[in-house]
Amino acid sequence: MTVEGIKTEIQKLAFAAVDSVYRYVIGVRASLKPKPPAPPKWLHKGRMYAFTDPKCNDGDVFENCNLMQVLPDTEIMVGKKMTLKNCQLTNVKLVSGMTIEGGNTCKWDFCSHNHEVFTKFGLPVCKEFCRHWNDEDKVYEDILLGQSPIPKAVAEIGVN
Ligand SMILES: [Zn+2]
Repeated sequence: MTVEGIKTEIQKLAFAAVDSVYRYVIGVRASLKPKPPAPPKWLHKGRMYAFTDPKCNDGDVFENCNLMQVLPDTEIMVGKKMTLKNCQLTNVKLVSGMTIEGGNTCKWDFCSHNHEVFTKFGLPVCKEFCRHWNDEDKVYEDILLGQSPIPKAVAEIGVN
């Protein structure tokens, strides 16, 4: 091998060494890349969501929102985790993904004679003298079924 040939071989080896170090560094840098960020947490403040199933990301916070539903134990935002602070939650089925802080969690059996507009949102139309009719007072009365049990906060029961 000539001196020139040896020089060329040394240059090739040097290049390969630098190249492998370079590739190693690129690989390490790629593995150190931050993970994609979690979806944003939205604050829903004072929003009117009654009779709807609002869009929700995991971690969303609802504050002073109206999420009332027409029928008792209506499921909304199924499979999502959110915090509900001082919200109108009448007839909302409360499940473990929900962290509830204050608010109205009553369950009502509404009468369509009192709430005609609710029939547009799925309340069945009552007969003339339905179960809500109070013959003594001659009025239709909504029936309070009680409070929906508030689930323990997700953190408390150790579920991620
Ligand atoms: Zn009725």
